Amino acid sequence: MYQSSKSLFERAQQSIPGGVNSPVRAFKSVGGTPVFIKSAKGAYMVDEDGNQYIDYINSWGPMVLGHAYEPVVKAIQAKVALGTSFGAPTELEIEIAELIKSMVPNVDLIRMVNSGTEACMSAVRLARGYTGRNKIIKFEGCYHGHADCFLVKAGSGVATFGIQHVPGVTAAVANDTLTCAYNDLNAVKALFANNKEEIAAIIIEPVAGNMGCIPPAEGFLEGLRSLCTEMGSLLIFDEVMTGFRLAKGGAQERLKIDADLVCYGKVIGAGMPVGAFGGRKEIMEHIAPLGNVYQAGTLSGNPLAMIAGYTLLHELKTNTDRFSSIEKKADYLKDGLIKVLDASGFPYRINHLGSMLSIHFSENDITDFEAAASANNARFNQFFHAMLKRGIYLPPSAFETWFISDALSYEDLDKTIEAAKEALAEIE
Ligand SMILES: *Cc1c(COP(=O)(O)O)cnc(C)c1O
Repeated sequence: MYQSSKSLFERAQQSIPGGVNSPVRAFKSVGGTPVFIKSAKGAYMVDEDGNQYIDYINSWGPMVLGHAYEPVVKAIQAKVALGTSFGAPTELEIEIAELIKSMVPNVDLIRMVNSGTEACMSAVRLARGYTGRNKIIKFEGCYHGHADCFLVKAGSGVATFGIQHVPGVTAAVANDTLTCAYNDLNAVKALFANNKEEIAAIIIEPVAGNMGCIPPAEGFLEGLRSLCTEMGSLLIFDEVMTGFRLAKGGAQERLKIDADLVCYGKVIGAGMPVGAFGGRKEIMEHIAPLGNVYQAGTLSGNPLAMIAGYTLLHELKTNTDRFSSIEKKADYLKDGLIKVLDASGFPYRINHLGSMLSIHFSENDITDFEAAASANNARFNQFFHAMLKRGIYLPPSAFETWFISDALSYEDLDKTIEAAKEALAEIE
């Protein structure tokens, strides 16, 4: 069934570390051979052996309207013949910046980069430059990309592989990153009390998605907002996952909280390498060439990446029914999964907000990383494989969120629920 993938994986390991260019793709946590993808269209991916999958990763988020979305493909095709990169400004960069500003009212200025990692790394540098303070607070299990300062209790791939201390990150850098449990406002207050006037920023996933999906508890983000205002620290929302997915204005709009700086990635590039960070003018003006906080990129604002992102964002802005359509599908899937999970007798929790969803096999509510880590993740791994062989492609780790796309049909969702029923009957 996976013969070509198996031999490609063998071959890949001869020239690429672990055979992959990003760790979670290696299936190390769930075991087995990663499937090599040949092509994708709409809700489906096809592997090198010709197996077809209903896709719930959607490139880890970007393909919110499905793969090879026709308007994006056409826009890239039209643009590519005009040159692939100039290293000089283009009108299209203004257009996408203006479009994002019209979707996210508290962004006055926005800078394009090439990945979510770069966006978060640059936002933290800016927060430090702006406040003149060194320390940041992040939450256990939140992932903000692989910059040094974030590789402390970092969720996602780091959690999947059980990495505690990341070699290569110096103690000096790690010590400037303070951590506490997600949803624990009192712990944040204690960090502020013990580090008076030292904290440049809190960075947070407003809906956590890198320890499975964990929505914020009632009042938690509001509490962070007022603490930051009171203490002169910046609140950075890492909306790399939630941005342009939970609403056209992202989690800020959906949860009605204004951050000081916002980071984007994933959906913003429609599958091309794009990230961005933005915020209020008086903060963003500290970035070079206006200010002294240096940040740059040879390929930033790349025309192919910009036209892909612009085309997708424009559709999401003008056709806001898209969000309700995706959410109805997510609700439908959730309800169906609840039925088959109830019938299975396994203890479980489903966390869900908008088009983000995840299952933990646990008797406890999953509100932070400790709870996510204490779930029966070996059972999830069996579930993953039982679903994969039925043509359902889930994220290959219990610490990752399922992404629902608008390309999914109700028939696809029914197939998924039926597969889950069979899978649950097969696993232990
Ligand atoms: C994926 C992700 C990142 C990192 O983005 P890359 O494009 O992989 O560098 C940062 N923050 C969050 C919340 C993410 O989900």
